[in-house]
Amino acid sequence: MRHSRIKKTKTVCTYCGVGCSFEIWTKDREILKVEPQVDAPVNSISTCVKGKFGWDFVNSEERLTQPLIRKGDRFVESTWEEALDLVASGLQKIKEKHGADSIGFIASSKCTNEENYLFQKLSRAVFGTNNVDNCSRYCQSPATAGLLRTVGIGGDSGTIEDLQKSDFVLIIGANPAESHPVLATRIKRSHKLHGQKLAVIDLRRNEMAERADLFLHPKPGTDLVLLSAVTKYIVDQGWHDPSFIEQRVNSFDKYLPSLEKFTLDYAEEITGIAKEEIIRLAQMIHEADTMCICWAMGVTQHIAGTDTSTAISNLLLITGNYGKPGAGAFPLRGHNNVQGASDFGTMPAWFPGYEPVEHDEVRARYEKAWGVTLPKKPGFNNHQMVEAITKGKIKAMYLFGEDMALVDSNSNYVESAFEMLDFFVVQDVFFSRTARYADVVLPAAPSLEKEGTFTNTERRIQRFYQVFEPLGESKPDWVIIQEVANKMGANWNYQHPSEIMAEASKLAPVFAGVSYERLEGWNSQLWPVAPDGLDSPLLYTERFGFPDGKARLYPVDWTPPYEPGAEYDIHLNNGRLLEHFHEGNLTYRSKGITHKVPQPWVEISPELAEERGIKDGSLVSLTSPYGKVEVRALVTDNVAKNELYLTMNTTDENQAVNRLTSSYHDKITHTPNYKEMSVKLEIV
Ligand code: SF4
Repeated sequence: MRHSRIKKTKTVCTYCGVGCSFEIWTKDREILKVEPQVDAPVNSISTCVKGKFGWDFVNSEERLTQPLIRKGDRFVESTWEEALDLVASGLQKIKEKHGADSIGFIASSKCTNEENYLFQKLSRAVFGTNNVDNCSRYCQSPATAGLLRTVGIGGDSGTIEDLQKSDFVLIIGANPAESHPVLATRIKRSHKLHGQKLAVIDLRRNEMAERADLFLHPKPGTDLVLLSAVTKYIVDQGWHDPSFIEQRVNSFDKYLPSLEKFTLDYAEEITGIAKEEIIRLAQMIHEADTMCICWAMGVTQHIAGTDTSTAISNLLLITGNYGKPGAGAFPLRGHNNVQGASDFGTMPAWFPGYEPVEHDEVRARYEKAWGVTLPKKPGFNNHQMVEAITKGKIKAMYLFGEDMALVDSNSNYVESAFEMLDFFVVQDVFFSRTARYADVVLPAAPSLEKEGTFTNTERRIQRFYQVFEPLGESKPDWVIIQEVANKMGANWNYQHPSEIMAEASKLAPVFAGVSYERLEGWNSQLWPVAPDGLDSPLLYTERFGFPDGKARLYPVDWTPPYEPGAEYDIHLNNGRLLEHFHEGNLTYRSKGITHKVPQPWVEISPELAEERGIKDGSLVSLTSPYGKVEVRALVTDNVAKNELYLTMNTTDENQAVNRLTSSYHDKITHTPNYKEMSVKLEIV
């Protein structure tokens, strides 16, 4: 009898943008343990609960293991041949009848760089449309846009090491202790042991706020006013960095008048923060030689998400906090590969490496390499695709690794749009809420069943290796995408993801020196990577990302947040749970996690609970103009009196926050304003 052996395989965690890597010990298909290693570049010997216990979903009996085809109201299993023929003929018919731009492609920030590269190639080169986007549209697009306006590159300007080294860390609208736990641990350590100062601006007294030297709770949607008032006060006191501005920044004189209105009196009135506290924050910044600012969805998921992100970057520029160790901008990426999905071109206006589709020279480079004529006009983003379905302009969609029916805002509206599609292909590991609207469902393999690379929040590209064979007839997403392309008449012949990366690195200058050989084992590379393999942990040491090498101060004004009406009297905030990931389709199927935290809840202040007769564990309903949910209450002073906090990770559509959110969005990027909602609260 042959005994199977214990196998150790290096993998990269798929549960947040920190990008921890570790060895996973297995025997046959059993996961024995997760063991972090000192060689891991980000986390060394640390992981959080998700990285440690979140993997047994791979053996779930609910996995999709065979293609499914819709027959009337039900799905039946099919062969791959039959399913792929149907995908190709269904999409081809729509293209012939309504044109290439009547098809939309939704990519996945949970899937690999290579899979995202291939998917945008499928959309552009095989179908002829730039209608391709990924879920950074739901989270960090405004941060990228704010950085592109001011410093010219949309990624984090430094590494987690810089956060650890910094004299002062300011966290705005983020809760890294739950959303980016290993990164938070590094800040906690520096704060506790090495004299680092910490300030938190948030609606919720989260764990980092509890630890902070200063915690400010502004009125919802007023962060831009607070940041601009701090910036103005710093300039008025002469605490800015004139020599940095003189040498490295354009447009200081043009920018200054935009600060005039942000006086301490105005800021106190709009934000509800006392003038003395605003001054205290300015003083903390002044006293620090180096400052890092971290922000996430509490900033970006607003009508003014891009403008507030711009105000953050303006503050860093005014104080000379770019291009030196321990300083810089840190928009914390949520999904494991939200950075990489965007980097590798699943965006409607950009080729891989953020080169514009409208740029003739860039397009010509891709046309030559791919042997096709490419569309010039930027496509629809995912918000615009939903709108276009309702207007009859988008007739078909191909989506992979994204449960858009649960994660897009105003989900009742999104689902009604999906019902209008003539043809819909969904590719995923599990039968998602979105799959209910599909004509064909293709079974995909998760990260443990394939190879590839992910890019973390620091722009760090890392390899991971195959642990198991794909379950049943499921296949890696890159294999399925290639098979769809070839059914459409392409002649792709990638044998391994390394060949896809080799093509991307030839075409996109920022990845010029990226290769699987250089990424072997625990090695990693932070883009931009020069042809000789030299990478870039710290950006802007000599030049900013504009042709003249100088940064730009960008004037911004405040836009008040959306309010649905007086009858919706309680502000609703939302965010992640430490133990779960996104729509929960993986972690709720991992026993080690779901036993600990089986369902979401809404946090309610003791004052509000008493006023409404609500106790810990009471079932309450939340109603907005767009829908209703019922969840259990947790009474806590984490939240202020008339504010609620609903944990967002759930597979239960009746508890999903996006039953409540609206279709309003950031003015520039169309990122939904998930954080701007008020509701009626009632006990059930
Ligand atoms: Fe995974 Fe993020 Fe936890 Fe690291 S911090 S183990 S990447 S979820």
